[in-house]
Amino acid sequence: MKAATPPFGPAHGFGLYIHWPYCTRICPYCDFNVYAAKDRDNAGLNAALLSDVARHRALLADHPPLGSVYFGGGTPSLMAAGDIASLIERADEAFGIESGAEITLEANPADISRGALQAWKAAGITRVSLGIQSLDDQALSFLGRDHDSAMARRAAEDTLAIFDNTSIDLIYARPGQPTESWKTELSDALSLGAPHLSLYELTIAERTAFGKRAERGELVPMPDDDQADLYELTQQICEARGLPAYEISNHAAGEAYKSRHNLTYWRGGDWIGIGPGAHGRLSLDGRRFATHAPARPGDYEAAVKAPLPSEPGEPLTSLDTARELLALGLRPDEGFDLDRMTAVSGMPADAASLDMLAEAGLLHRSGQVVSLTREGRLLADRITAELAP
Ligand code: SF4
Repeated sequence: MKAATPPFGPAHGFGLYIHWPYCTRICPYCDFNVYAAKDRDNAGLNAALLSDVARHRALLADHPPLGSVYFGGGTPSLMAAGDIASLIERADEAFGIESGAEITLEANPADISRGALQAWKAAGITRVSLGIQSLDDQALSFLGRDHDSAMARRAAEDTLAIFDNTSIDLIYARPGQPTESWKTELSDALSLGAPHLSLYELTIAERTAFGKRAERGELVPMPDDDQADLYELTQQICEARGLPAYEISNHAAGEAYKSRHNLTYWRGGDWIGIGPGAHGRLSLDGRRFATHAPARPGDYEAAVKAPLPSEPGEPLTSLDTARELLALGLRPDEGFDLDRMTAVSGMPADAASLDMLAEAGLLHRSGQVVSLTREGRLLADRITAELAP
């Protein structure tokens, strides 16, 4: 008899996230764990990343080979290609990397050159995620970016010439952004021909430069209703151009271009998070651990000198695990099996809430598998709260 699939863990995907914390400059909206690159010697951090990969090996001996590796940041396109190659090799030695695995590098347009792209490909990168953010020069300057729209277009063309699997990030719903200009910008971005788009509404986080400007009343975020209208328009345009959403903010031109690494997060898989401030989720002996590396590069470098404890992070309670599986599992359109939540928490979703959400047109239901409708995607947090144990 075939054993039942556990409700979380590597059976739902296994990936490695590597956080490179440096950027040439800090964008005013960014609330990631980032530091200005300046002229620094990265030897210590590179060595720490390599030993962090290796020290996970014994603990995860029963895990399958990696299905994805993701270099995020920060700006990992500032890393030397040789250091990227060494990390991929180390990951392969430690865990094995599946043939055909997705190995993504986030890159800024300013770092794109034919030479760099070839070197990344030779290092083992299979997918590039380009932080274009906008194709409007004024908006790029507002967002504090170090590229203009001409550079962004060139970067996309050059990247697509070498990496068929290229993703483009854009930020919309900016303060005062007219609908017509977003329509034009999104159509232009689609015309670049990338098979994957990540389209994020601008969020103004408290501790950022934008957050401080908003507190002083110098920056007024776009009202929620206007954001919802732009979201709807975005869905219509992307669907008409063959890149429907497969997750709240992510669009792909077919199965082959969906982000396998991000699907591991949404499906309740495991991922190792290495690098300053990186988060991970590891499942060991039926328990789920949330890992969080020290944020400051110096603290991180010191911490990885010690072996990994047998409990590699904070053990999550059954309730926290079930709630997280639901919150993330509702994001992609493939749907979430509520039996997985019940298996972890022992509590089924409330039948009356399910009926109410389905009748309100916010949820599709097929047996125990539920997914958000397009209207439901705008209310994902509320729907999650309604169904959570
Ligand atoms: S380049 Fe990206 S990670 Fe770096 S500061 Fe700007 S938004 Fe943040």
